[in-house]
Formats: sequence, C-alpha cells, structure tokens
Amino acid sequence: MPTPFDNSFVNLPKSFYMRQDPVPVSAPGLVRFNHDLAREIGVDEGDFPLEVLAGNAVPAKAAPLAAAYAGHQFGNFVPQLGDGRAVLLGEVVGPDGIRRDIQLKGAGRTYFSRGGDGRAAIGPVLREYLVSEAMHALGVPTTRALAAITTGEPVQRETPLPGAVLTRVAQSHLRVGSFQFHYARQDKTALETLVEYARARHYPEAKTPLEFLDAVVAAQARLVAKWMGLGFIHGVMNTDNCSIAGETIDYGPCAFMDSYHPETVFSSIDRKARYAYGNQPKIAQWNLAQLAQTLVPLVGEIDQLEAALHRFDDLYAAEFTRIFTAKLGLAKPDTDFILATLKMMADEGVDFTLFFRRLAYGQDISDLFEAPTTAKTWHREWLKRSLPNADMKAVNPVFIPRNHRVEAVLKAAEQGDFAPFEKLHAVLSAPFTEQPEDAKFEAPPSEDERVLATFCGT
Ligand code: AMP
Ligand code: MG
Repeated sequence: MPTPFDNSFVNLPKSFYMRQDPVPVSAPGLVRFNHDLAREIGVDEGDFPLEVLAGNAVPAKAAPLAAAYAGHQFGNFVPQLGDGRAVLLGEVVGPDGIRRDIQLKGAGRTYFSRGGDGRAAIGPVLREYLVSEAMHALGVPTTRALAAITTGEPVQRETPLPGAVLTRVAQSHLRVGSFQFHYARQDKTALETLVEYARARHYPEAKTPLEFLDAVVAAQARLVAKWMGLGFIHGVMNTDNCSIAGETIDYGPCAFMDSYHPETVFSSIDRKARYAYGNQPKIAQWNLAQLAQTLVPLVGEIDQLEAALHRFDDLYAAEFTRIFTAKLGLAKPDTDFILATLKMMADEGVDFTLFFRRLAYGQDISDLFEAPTTAKTWHREWLKRSLPNADMKAVNPVFIPRNHRVEAVLKAAEQGDFAPFEKLHAVLSAPFTEQPEDAKFEAPPSEDERVLATFCGT
C-alpha cells in the first residue's frame, strides 16, 4: 500500500513556507533505515527507497517545502531563520491516528539558507540518529530518525567531511520560533491561523489560545523534567529549537552528563553557560514566555498569560519530584532528600547514571565517591527512606549515550566504518536491560577519554 501522505501544513497561507524540492546528490549510500519506526508510523518502506531518502526523487504525494520561523538564539532575536537545510516532504497519519512530519535534514540550500550550504555532515547526522533513538528508548518524547544516508559529496566544515542526510520524523516541526516569525511581522491573522492549526493538531482538548498555551507549558515542563532525570543537556535551547508538541528536537551539541554537576556545559558555542544542565528548566520557561508574548494580540489578558507561564513552576517541580522519587525508590516524595542527594553528588563528583543504576541493582556505590565515608552516611539515610520493593530498574537506565562513546562512533563513521555506530545503536535500544557482554558501554570515560566540548557541526 502506498504511503498515505496527507499534507496539511502546505495548505496554510503562503507566508508560512516556501515550496522547495530537495537538491539531488551524486552518489547516495544507505547507512541505516529504521524499519521499526516505519511500521510504527504506518509508512511503506517501498516509498522510501534510497533515492527518496537522498532527495534525488520525491514520492508522488509529497509536497516538499521549507518552513519559515524566527527565534531567539542565545537570547538574541533573529526575525527570520527558517528551514535552511531541511525540507518537509509531507505528513503521514499513523495507525495510532497521530499525524507526523517526514523531513529530510541536510537536503540542500533553501530560501532560508542565508550563508549556509544547506547540507549536513555525517557526524551530526549520526549523532542525531543515535541520540534521538536512544532518547525514545529511554522514554523521552523526541523527534525520531527514520533513516540516515551518505551523499557521496563532501561538505566543507573546518575540514571537508562526508555529507549525509537524516530523515527526521516529528509530531510536527512547529516551534516557539514559528509563532515569533508572524508576531515579529505583526501579522495577527497569520498568528490566529497558526495557533488554531497547532491547537487542533497537538492539543485538540484545549479550546482557546490560552488553553493552548497551558498545554504547551505542561508539555515542556514534563519534557525538561525527563531530561533532568537522565542527566541530558540539550545544549542549544534556542526558541527555534523548542517544539510546540513537547518533543526533544535538534540534537546539535547535546550530551549526557557523566559526573553530576548542575553547571555542566558541553557545547563549544555556549560560552556563557546559558544552557547548562541546571539552567534548563529556567530556560524552558523563558522560551515559553516568548511564546506567550506572541499570543498577546490574540488573548489580550496579559495577567492570564502570565498565570499560565507561572504554572510551569509547580508542574515542573511536581514532575521533578515524581521522577527522582522513583529513581531513588523512596517510600514517599521527599524533595529535601532529593536535593540533598544531588548536592552531595555534585560535591563528590559522582557519576550520575552509575549511581542510580547501582542503587537499582543493589550494588555498592562507595567507589563512585571521592570520600567513601560520605557514601556510607548517605546510604544509611537512603535505606531509611526507600522502599525495598520499589521498581528502580524500570526508571534508571544501565546505558546512556556516553559522549566519549558517541564521539568514537562518529569518528569511525567519518572514516567510513559504521560498525561501531551499529553496535552502540543496538546497545542503546535496550537501555534498561543489563547486557553483560557489552558492560564496557556503561562505564564513564577514563581521564584521557573524557570529552570536554561538543560541536553542533553546522
Ligand atoms: P540549528 O542550529 O540547527 O537549530 O539551526 C539554526 C538555523 O541555522 C536554522 O535556520 C537552520 O536552518 C540554519 N542552518 C543550520 N545549518 C545550516 C546549513 N548548513 N545551511 C543552511 N542553513 C543552516
Ligand atoms: Mg534548529
């Protein structure tokens, strides 16, 4: 059965996008196709041969376009960003009734490319494939990866690198920046149309623009709390990377923390540590405030918009406590104990993932601490508060995409060796399961393996 493309975004007003076919490449090669995801979203693999994944052919019912959006990048407003290297092929509605975008990322120059080449290098493409699929397996809402291909063409970054295209699947690519685009142009009609479109597509239970904001706030609060519970650092939480559907989007310089510290930053371009681990909830709320701003012309009652924004605090705090209560297997929610535990982990430089993994499996934690006596004292306090039969294994992963492992995989891929990528991908597809033969992937980096900075590589 041919893939039932059912495109809706293309029916929105012309100011929302530019029609744009992907730009063909000379010698595409398949790296990986995600068969499970294809089944899940109801697409026929036959409609996504290599030529389509590369952008050399367009499926019959696709309606390719580059979407317009604006955004605050590191706090500075840019009135026009847009899909500078991505093309939305179209939308499909899955067997679950969910509408999803299918987008080629790295598909060539568009109207929105500015100085960029519209392309992506193999490293960032495989990083997104690996980490987004790992996030999904970890239970975090995220865009997905349907396929990765190489283009056979080099892209010029600091050095020439093999070019690649990621086929990305998202509940939509609407971001806070999509609203900012029309707000900056004082186009109230466009804003009304976009709010109505986003509301109906993502939050049909919300009946008004205000309830729509409420729903987006709640989705972001839940999302960021999940990131915090896994030690995930997004790295570039600009408003154009803040999804209205509440999915994690844009795996540029993202990274998982090894040893816990709230000030941890990896991104080489985040010089002021704006997007440090511990800042993420505050930044998410700041991004939502930018969304609320765009709704002022539609809602009018500014105090109601502010009240919706402030609901983030309680929603986030409740999610955070719920998640860490489960991670620690506590008998009852205990925010003070959770915060004291995290403070101790920061002071002691404890590996975040291993700490909870060892607790979950009843293993010794003392070697994770600089001061083993601190571990003993803490453990006594924990025993008093924890439930012996709590299912901590279901919420504390054994495996996360450790930076040093990810970097090693990407380096190998740049040299044409995809075996390490396949291996790490396989391990990360079951992150809550012990895999004794691959236990080395659990380990934090040794001193000389440690990755100090990540690059978005655009
Ligand atoms: P990102 O940092 O990936 O969220 O991208 C921010 C903006 O830069 C978006 O408008 C992108 O479309 C654009 N962009 C990033 N990389 C490229 C590229 N290689 N060519 C053209 N535009 C790009
Ligand atoms: Mg982006």
